[in-house]
Amino acid sequence: MTTHQERRCVLYARLSVTKEESVSIARQLQSCRRYAEARGWEVMGEFIDDGVSATANRPEDRNGWATLLATTDFDAVIIWKVDRLARRVLDFLQADEALQKRGAGLVAVEDPIDMTSPQGRAFAVMLAVFGEMEAEAIRARVRAARAQLLKDGRWAGGGIPYGYQSAANPDGPGWVLVKDPVRQPWLAEVVGKALSGETVNAITTWMTAQGAPLPVGSIARRKSGATAWNRQTVDGILRNPVLAGMTPHNPGRPKSAKRADPFAVFRDEDGKPVVNHALAVISAEEFTVLQRLLDARSTPQARKRSEREPTSPFLARVVRCDHCDVFLCRGTNQKRPVLYCPSCRQTMSRSTLDPHLIDRLIAERGTEPLGGSTVAAHWAAAGTSDDSRREILLTQLQSLRVRRGVVGRYFDSDRVLLQWKPASDVDV
Ligand SMILES: [Zn+2]
Repeated sequence: MTTHQERRCVLYARLSVTKEESVSIARQLQSCRRYAEARGWEVMGEFIDDGVSATANRPEDRNGWATLLATTDFDAVIIWKVDRLARRVLDFLQADEALQKRGAGLVAVEDPIDMTSPQGRAFAVMLAVFGEMEAEAIRARVRAARAQLLKDGRWAGGGIPYGYQSAANPDGPGWVLVKDPVRQPWLAEVVGKALSGETVNAITTWMTAQGAPLPVGSIARRKSGATAWNRQTVDGILRNPVLAGMTPHNPGRPKSAKRADPFAVFRDEDGKPVVNHALAVISAEEFTVLQRLLDARSTPQARKRSEREPTSPFLARVVRCDHCDVFLCRGTNQKRPVLYCPSCRQTMSRSTLDPHLIDRLIAERGTEPLGGSTVAAHWAAAGTSDDSRREILLTQLQSLRVRRGVVGRYFDSDRVLLQWKPASDVDV
């Protein structure tokens, strides 16, 4: 592969749905075609992954790339930029290795990458390593800058909580958070109602009826001048630690994680929350009580299914990755609930996995004896309590593993390796 005679090539393009500054699939392919044409290479095929994140999915787990690898008769793959293929050095190297095995090399139009020669390959690897180091350094700088802003009592950006507004910092550069005189009385009223035991639904109805001013720039207001509050907004307001003068701060939380933990706040070196009393509406103790009240009221039944599923504890520490032998974690991918492997990052959609497991549990184990009656009877009694359902599943489960497969919209039951306990072992 060191000669530069006529080659047969395939093109690969990928677009993530996330808002990275990106070039459309059509434009990526167009520039790849031009590249091939300029060199007199014959294009044997074009492969795309549309709406697939490179961070969440390794190349071989994507339909387009997997199909590309399954085809024959090419000795070069043209991509627009390296990040279309991979955003991690290891993923990049593994994809390159798979191509190398079949005698093909990778070429990027916009990056100085030519994996069809040994020199080109060595250079590409170095570039990839430095790219990853740089990305980590940037992340670290952003974290440090934010921590410094918070330490200085400044507003670090992000959504301004209800009842507050930003103002020029009187003690130096930047911005600080101050109370919004228009919305503060409403905020105090809402918090008082919640602490006295009123439900979020009741408070939401009350706010709409009273014409309480909506959050600044809220979507509801922008749309056709609507003035209705919704319970998610009210719930979010009541769970914001700013109510006790604390600043939400959870640098370890991945973007895909469930909603913010109300107790993940900016803390001093001793681990004590940093409190700005000028912003507090209630004390830290009252805030804790408020969270307990909200948790007690938002039973799984009361919440919408779409909200509940991503964090549903039904499969918490139940399913293992067959490849890595670690528990799959709960999360979301493109807003859909998934289980994902923290090690190899394979994902499994929960909107299909959960019903599949429940069907099999009832069909295959429903008549097993359990606690004086049967599994099916216990299941019916558990209602929609995810914790009880999990307990019942665990009484029957020997092992449950998920195999890596091609990412796609269709559920592949072959990926689910399910073993029930021997019938005699079951606790009766
Ligand atoms: Zn894994």
